[in-house]
Amino acid sequence: MAHRIVILGGGTGGTLVANRLRRALDEHAAEIVVVDQDDAHVYQPGLLFVPFGLAHLDEITRPRRRQLHRGISFRLCPVDHVDIAENEVHLGDGTTLPYDVLVVATGAALVPEETAGMLGTGWMEKVFTFYTPQGASALHDALERFDGGRLVVGVVDMPIKCPVAPLEFCFLADWYLRERGVRAEVDLQYVTPLDSAFTKPEAARTLGGILEDKGVGLVTEFNIGEVDGAGGRLVGYDGREVPFDLAVLVPLHGGAPYVGRSPGLGDALGFVRTDPHTLQSVATPNVFALGDAADLPTSKAGSVTHFEGDVLVANIRLFLAGEPLDASYDGHTNCFIETGFGKALLIDFNYGTEPLPGHFPTEIGLPLLKESRLNHLGKLMFQWFYWHALLPGRDVPGIASAMPSRGKHTAGVAS
Ligand SMILES: Cc1cc2nc3c(=O)[nH]c(=O)nc-3n(C[C@H](O)[C@H](O)[C@H](O)COP(=O)(O)OP(=O)(O)OC[C@H]3O[C@@H](n4cnc5c(N)ncnc54)[C@H](O)[C@@H]3O)c2cc1C
Repeated sequence: MAHRIVILGGGTGGTLVANRLRRALDEHAAEIVVVDQDDAHVYQPGLLFVPFGLAHLDEITRPRRRQLHRGISFRLCPVDHVDIAENEVHLGDGTTLPYDVLVVATGAALVPEETAGMLGTGWMEKVFTFYTPQGASALHDALERFDGGRLVVGVVDMPIKCPVAPLEFCFLADWYLRERGVRAEVDLQYVTPLDSAFTKPEAARTLGGILEDKGVGLVTEFNIGEVDGAGGRLVGYDGREVPFDLAVLVPLHGGAPYVGRSPGLGDALGFVRTDPHTLQSVATPNVFALGDAADLPTSKAGSVTHFEGDVLVANIRLFLAGEPLDASYDGHTNCFIETGFGKALLIDFNYGTEPLPGHFPTEIGLPLLKESRLNHLGKLMFQWFYWHALLPGRDVPGIASAMPSRGKHTAGVAS
């Protein structure tokens, strides 16, 4: 009898895993069902460009079910909860979906309501986020009207999706305001709960330097406790205040809310407790997780989800065959960082290796930790790659799940 593999979430991870599994497993061997609450697949890295008029929502959104290969069933319904003891998913329409193997790929949810005042006076008027399609689009209109004053870009707390995205927003805002001839009228500030511009020391030095060169102020170790939209102030838990005329905030993130209603599955934030190398859930052997939904100590990024997908698909096949799992996922992360004026940086790292200078994926390739036009073109091309190679689950020559060491320079890197 065919095994039933149920995949929760038809975003980046759910789609690429479903397509890879469909190719690897005969339809008589496995039935594959993908569940999602909506049918609009947004290419989320494109949200960064929407506020600056460099992308439009209709260009970065496609139907979910059309990204799934033939032979995969799609259920359009929210997940209500999972009963891991009974191997059942309970859907919002009251039906139950039994499974032999479950893949959790329901990503991260934004919880702006967890920060006092964020959704109060001024929300979507002078307080925005570009992390949602609606927010990115509304911010576009607000930025067009913004001719001067204090523009504050702030992160409430980690973890967030794509931790470099708010920095990229600062770099692009600097470019955009200069293009419009109003940069001198704007005091641009980046507010972060971290003690530097970024988590990784070498990258933090480089990115902090770019902020400084562009005249963007850096406010560190600032934990936003309250957003006072009426008064135009971010108020920190330590009593410090950052005034703003326009605030662009990245709200707190948690796991999908149903994870909290599924006993044993998640941690206190609703992320799935997952083995960092096999991607099997810690709770029970027939549940796996990848992407933003997992509680792993790596970035919540599409590249991570992609690299995890290789190992996860191999492990589902090994699990079904009763063989030991492959523990080879190394935390590989790869991010283009748009820096404005047609340039971008690239960083590549894993659980044990910081972002280093050099080239990717070998001694000849894209420059690492260095602004270049080539990296900017790489960032732009990534959207094509996303729809046509990453989601369909195609192998990409030269790009492997494991982080490449060739091309990276360790000599002369300060710690
Ligand atoms: C502004 C921004 C910029 C980014 N830039 C980059 C970048 O440059 N590079 C990069 O690598 N990554 C980037 N990312 C991050 C990247 O988009 C995510 O890490 C990636 O999409 C994660 O994939 P996922 O499958 O885990 O989650 P998602 O792709 O978010 O998919 C989760 C799916 O689960 C569904 N779901 C959730 N709850 C339920 C429920 N209860 N019932 C049914 N379905 C449910 C959702 O509808 C969604 O389809 C960016 C993200 C943002 C927001």
